[in-house]
Amino acid sequence: MVLIIGGGIIGLSIAWRLIGIGKKVIIVDKKSFGKEASWAAAGMLSGRLDLKPSEKQLLPIFEKSHFAWPKFAKELEDRSGKSIGYRKEGTLMVACDINEEKKLKNNYNFLKNNKLNVSWLSGNLIREKEPYVSNNVLSGFFSPDDHHVNNRYILDALLTILKKNKNNCIFKENTEVEKIITNENQVIGIKTKKETIKTKEIIICSGAWTNKIKNIEVNEAPIRPVKGQMVCLKMSKESSILKHILWRENVYLVPRDNSDLIIGATEEEMGFDKSLTAGGIYNLLKKAREILPGIEDLPIVESWSGLRPTTRDEAPIIGPSKKIKGLIYATGHHRNGILLAPLTSNVIKNYYLNGKIESDFSNFRPGRFII
Ligand SMILES: Cc1cc2nc3c(=O)[nH]c(=O)nc-3n(C[C@H](O)[C@H](O)[C@H](O)COP(=O)(O)OP(=O)(O)OC[C@H]3O[C@@H](n4cnc5c(N)ncnc54)[C@H](O)[C@@H]3O)c2cc1C
Repeated sequence: MVLIIGGGIIGLSIAWRLIGIGKKVIIVDKKSFGKEASWAAAGMLSGRLDLKPSEKQLLPIFEKSHFAWPKFAKELEDRSGKSIGYRKEGTLMVACDINEEKKLKNNYNFLKNNKLNVSWLSGNLIREKEPYVSNNVLSGFFSPDDHHVNNRYILDALLTILKKNKNNCIFKENTEVEKIITNENQVIGIKTKKETIKTKEIIICSGAWTNKIKNIEVNEAPIRPVKGQMVCLKMSKESSILKHILWRENVYLVPRDNSDLIIGATEEEMGFDKSLTAGGIYNLLKKAREILPGIEDLPIVESWSGLRPTTRDEAPIIGPSKKIKGLIYATGHHRNGILLAPLTSNVIKNYYLNGKIESDFSNFRPGRFII
């Protein structure tokens, strides 16, 4: 029995893949499943368009997961019988002044050099695609292949599939894992407030809270929370004011097929504080209104925040512990866990089949920060 700590998108998709190769799993979560970062996300599969210079090593795995998404989405919808709100209109990255344009051009050139299907557009051409975009938008680029999904629907679809496999999948919600129990550097179980569960195989998918679990080798997986605040407006069903993802420095707007318009997200180093702040939401709305003034009259329907699981190099930590046998990490997905879910779950499945982590992930091993 493989014990998975954390029922976010990473833990649930790994559970799905492991059941598919005949494993039995138990998923343990301190809250209800899928109510943390995976619930808070915007659902964009377009992280490759916004890579910072320090994140460029991520492009190969982003690309691989990006291309895995259409099949993953279809399988999810077919197996669960539920829509995951997959939208394929693409992404518009825009700039409002010369400085923003300069930075965006750097990203564009990097993507072009890596043979991505992106095209540079004037402000007017952008307004031909999205007539409600303001004249403040100077220029930008379009990526038709960078899509988005409704991450909350995905969590629901994954849970529906797992519940159909009750014989192979045990659910334990509202159960916080306090400690990994080991004997001679071999995992032998976990301890919660109420009980001890025996197992020789544990996968750590506990997101931003990973370093709170006792006996995790913190040096192998140093994770910190990075807060993201979001606000959601409602567009009219009859006339949506946005069809593509619209992304400007420090803000993005994501139109969902239920007429929600998600505006996000802040990136804040506030520890585990998840409060919504006036400044956070104000800045998002201000920046968004400058590029899409039509949001002015839309009703606010919800606002929330989530904690991204982030590492020092902003890349995930995937693979077995070097120090504790039976302990595997699949965490630290920072801003791109929705995008990476198909790939991470597949890599972990293949590890169980072949005993090896695929070479694409050699830069993302646990313990890489130990000097
Ligand atoms: C505002 C925001 C916007 C984002 N937008 C995007 C986006 O557009 N595209 C994208 O690809 N990514 C996006 N992300 C990033 C993405 O949400 C994360 O990378 C991803 O959800 C991480 O998934 P996870 O399963 O590792 O973590 P989580 O979803 O946080 O799940 C971890 C789970 O572990 C449980 N847990 C923790 N500790 C314990 C314990 N001790 N015992 C038991 N259970 C425990 C938690 O309760 C939680 O359910 C965004 C994130 C935020 C916050």
